[in-house]
Amino acid sequence: MLNPKKVNIVVHGHEPVLSEMLVAACQDKELVAQAQAKGATGIGLAGICCTANEILMRHGVPVAGNFLQQELAIATGAVDAMVVDIQCVMPALGRIIENFHTLLISTSKKAQFPFARHIAFEETNAMATARKIVAAAVENYSNRNPSRVSVPQISSPLIAGFSAENVFTALGGRYRPSYRPLNEAIMTGRLRGVAAVVGCNNPRQTQDLGHLTITRELLANDVLVATTGCTAIADAKCGLLMPEAARYAGKGLQEICAAVGIPPVLHLGACVDISRILVILSNMVKEGGLGESIADVPAAAAAPEWMSEKAVAIGFYAIASGAFTVLGEPLPIQGAPGLMQLLTHDIAETFGGKFAFEGDPIEAAHRMIDHIDERRAALHLPGPMYDVPYAPRQAVELAAAK
Ligand code: SF4
Repeated sequence: MLNPKKVNIVVHGHEPVLSEMLVAACQDKELVAQAQAKGATGIGLAGICCTANEILMRHGVPVAGNFLQQELAIATGAVDAMVVDIQCVMPALGRIIENFHTLLISTSKKAQFPFARHIAFEETNAMATARKIVAAAVENYSNRNPSRVSVPQISSPLIAGFSAENVFTALGGRYRPSYRPLNEAIMTGRLRGVAAVVGCNNPRQTQDLGHLTITRELLANDVLVATTGCTAIADAKCGLLMPEAARYAGKGLQEICAAVGIPPVLHLGACVDISRILVILSNMVKEGGLGESIADVPAAAAAPEWMSEKAVAIGFYAIASGAFTVLGEPLPIQGAPGLMQLLTHDIAETFGGKFAFEGDPIEAAHRMIDHIDERRAALHLPGPMYDVPYAPRQAVELAAAK
């Protein structure tokens, strides 16, 4: 992702318009020539966090890491500029760059940072701003100390770019481009259900562990997983976004991955793209056979390591749409028993969805699977087609637990 022979720019934050322009500016012939005149072989762009997911989805730009890796990118000594906008940008970046040559460039009037150079990004003059930023990175390449450059030679391939518009082509194949094969797979029990595992890294937790543990447990139990945000990057690092990751899946999901050539975990974009997952669930309802609303579909969601205030808003969007959503860290409402009761139980009567708080990732995955099995039972669908490690609990036990 970071080629020591190139001028390296890392874009980090959430505003896709800026990153789109930077993708174009990094290919500008004049700027590339300027980089070559300084001894670099070209200009490289990589992403951190959800801006990374945006330019990965649209342009195939490589990802340098998720939330808790932003400082590590700078510590390679190979980043000539880190361009930040809003949210998930650690204020300490300004102090870290004192030890490296990296230029920290803030771009949003909403968020400026100590020790950063501010180049205000204006949508009306987007390309000119992007060129200015790239030119500053090229200029800073001369300040790089080659003896301090250490880029780990570790990378992992991935497949990304799934959307509500194209996922049915992937699942149904060229000759059957619809949600029908997906719905039928669930209705027959070849697929137990679908799950969204999404969200942030949280410094209180071992990085990525919650995401990966829940995801692998779901896959082993024949649950197809959709992912966004920093979870998607965690999955990518461990190879879960490749068709070969089907080896972690149960027999039913393995058969589907082999038949249509998809990974068992589908990368649907940035953390704000959870709307895509809800659109897919709506389309599954529209296709027929899985109930009348998202709340009826054998589906569940988890944000194992959430930390951003935005994640709270997205979580409410999910439960208000009918999704059962397990959070790895509880919302700060445990001192309010009435509110706890509302958000973890009673709200389901109105919206269909509700929260659960569960810090143990295996237990969280099992709660999601329990919910999926409950939905299957309510739709009078059969149990899983093949043996699964976490067998369905008896309906009576599920009812009692509820
Ligand atoms: S998933 Fe969370 S930590 Fe990652 S970029 Fe989005 S809001 Fe930030």
